[in-house]
Amino acid sequence: MTNKTDPSGDVRLTGIAKTYGSFTAVHPLDLTVPQGSFFALLGASGCGKTTTLRMIAGLEEPSVGTVFLGEQDVTALPPYKRPVNTVFQSYALFPHLDIFENVAFGLRRRGLKSVKKQVEEMLELVQLGEQARKKPHQLSGGQQQRVAVARALINHPKVLLLDEPLGALDLKLRRQMQLELKRIQTEVGITFIHVTHDQEEAMTMADTVAVMNAGRVEQLGAPTELYENPRTTFVANFLGTSNFIEAEVDSTSGEEIVLKAGGGKLVLPQARCSAPAGTGGRVLVGVRPEKIALTHADDAGEIPEGRNRITGRIADSSFIGVSTQYVVDSPVCSDFEVYAQNIDRDPRLVPGAEVVLHWNPAHTFGLDAAQSVL
Ligand code: ATP
Repeated sequence: MTNKTDPSGDVRLTGIAKTYGSFTAVHPLDLTVPQGSFFALLGASGCGKTTTLRMIAGLEEPSVGTVFLGEQDVTALPPYKRPVNTVFQSYALFPHLDIFENVAFGLRRRGLKSVKKQVEEMLELVQLGEQARKKPHQLSGGQQQRVAVARALINHPKVLLLDEPLGALDLKLRRQMQLELKRIQTEVGITFIHVTHDQEEAMTMADTVAVMNAGRVEQLGAPTELYENPRTTFVANFLGTSNFIEAEVDSTSGEEIVLKAGGGKLVLPQARCSAPAGTGGRVLVGVRPEKIALTHADDAGEIPEGRNRITGRIADSSFIGVSTQYVVDSPVCSDFEVYAQNIDRDPRLVPGAEVVLHWNPAHTFGLDAAQSVL
């Protein structure tokens, strides 16, 4: 419905911060969310994501800084004057009104008389055309949440804010609603800003994710970029499991950094290293457990050239159907985790077995060892 190049749905925060007395909930923040994107603010409880969302909505006044919607400075505007609407976790539907009237509410409040066509279109969008005459309590949690979305969209806001909207749903329904919200966003084409503490939810739905920690955005990017190339241990650990090896820079050549770790060598692409990597410098090398292959030490000669490799001994293994999770002790990292698909599983890979762990250097990322908290 909305033109992706139309900048009037851009959200731009410049230097906004929020303090409560001496406590800083959100440190000065610059953030641009382009029109038409599905943007997620992701972080643990208390990191400042709801406060950020509420400042965009106008429900919270920034201590400093400016909120722009498109070219318009809306910092001083009350919520109802902003072209923004919010969906909360508690659906906040009117229990005495049926679904049709719940969705029609915003139109009627603006004094519109003929609302039928618009409400029906909106109910179709959220696939509740058949439920129009039911009361909220006659619907499932997921359906009620869809009514809340329809009600929030009926006045055609430029931006929809969603504050943990799926938090009250059970896991299966959550997964369905994630896809459903994504479909609705694609169809209406407006900017969605979604607050969640669930990394899988953010990665499934959003095209851009801002990972927040203690009132700051630690890293912002596409889900794959954040997962494959985290720039801090916090981001690496928040978005899944990582193995870390402390290594020393041996040499740098062209696009590669060669590192020494426990008598062996590891290769790291320059582009995936967020540490200053001069010779002798220390880098924390990370690799995700599912990127690693495990080969019995007797077959080490069969491992192709050019792969990063370290040796170790299996400490533990858990068979979980499609895959097996191994914990490997190695001189460079105790408790190295490896998730291996169970295709052609080698029966010799049991606790006590000597193994070689190996992976494509492209799947390695490097962090600043001095700045990292493990
Ligand atoms: P959650 O997922 O638990 O809602 P959040 O990341 O959304 O967490 P915020 O609600 O933004 O976090 O709160 C950030 C910090 O600011 C928290 O430590 C919270 O206690 C504090 N805070 C929020 N509102 C107030 C307030 N009105 N007065 C004082 N402190 C507040």
